[in-house]
Amino acid sequence: MNGAPVALVTGASRGIGAGIAEALARTGYGVAVNYLCDHRAAAAVVERIRAGGGVARAFQADVTSTSAAQALHEDVRRELGEVHALVLNATGPQPDVPLDDLDRKDLQDQLDHFVLGPLALVQAVVPAMRERRAGRIVFIGSEVVDLAPAHTAAYTAAKSAQAAMARVWARELAPHGITVNTVSPGFIPGDRHRDTPQAAIEDYTAQVPAGRLGTASDIGAAVAFLCSEAAAFIAGERLRVTGGHTIG
Ligand code: NAP
Repeated sequence: MNGAPVALVTGASRGIGAGIAEALARTGYGVAVNYLCDHRAAAAVVERIRAGGGVARAFQADVTSTSAAQALHEDVRRELGEVHALVLNATGPQPDVPLDDLDRKDLQDQLDHFVLGPLALVQAVVPAMRERRAGRIVFIGSEVVDLAPAHTAAYTAAKSAQAAMARVWARELAPHGITVNTVSPGFIPGDRHRDTPQAAIEDYTAQVPAGRLGTASDIGAAVAFLCSEAAAFIAGERLRVTGGHTIG
């Protein structure tokens, strides 16, 4: 690593995470591309970044496990250097379940991805950030926090808890030069929306004031801004990147 600041992006092998990794690399971050099982997809993101002159490396780890998250942080430190920016993006399947069918496991899974996994990673990166008196932590939230769609109780509850946690930690860490913020995307169809009916996508798009769906690079641009020097005085915000879908 040649002195570039390091960003660790969880769940960066595809979708929004890949867009974030590429955007951060374009602004000069060396990027740790975390993934769960799709090594080829992660390697392709790394290749794209390197082809553009950037620095990147893939790191397999299940970030819902505290010990794996801690080991991931150690691997990244060893291979790329101290983490300057942490982006908490990884997601597993999100249950579409009405109240009567919701069970504790649905909730636990979502809390593991969006609350408990992030806790381990934030605790791992913060000591060095505190010492440096600089750091960036960005959570990837969701517009469901504003919209509360039916059948999403587990996902919406976990994303809401995550948003609350981000604001609390923003207050705790701002005195140390570390900013904590959330970027909340609207609907951005990716691999896991393969079965979403075209009519549902069109209905959604018709409700977006900007008249189009968002892209992973829209989210990447917002995260790159929050991870830049220009955003040093922004703390505890939830930036909605929805083309106006969440205006109200
Ligand atoms: P995605 O395309 O399904 O990608 C998920 C990523 O997370 C993949 O890189 C996957 O790795 C990784 N992953 C899954 N479980 C993991 C684990 N336990 N440990 C480490 N990595 C893991 O997701 P996405 O749709 O881009 O969503 C990204 C974020 O944006 C999520 O936080 C989501 O809630 C939020 N969001 C998405 C939308 C949307 O419409 N897409 C809207 C609002 C908010 P593998 O490839 O190896 O499986």
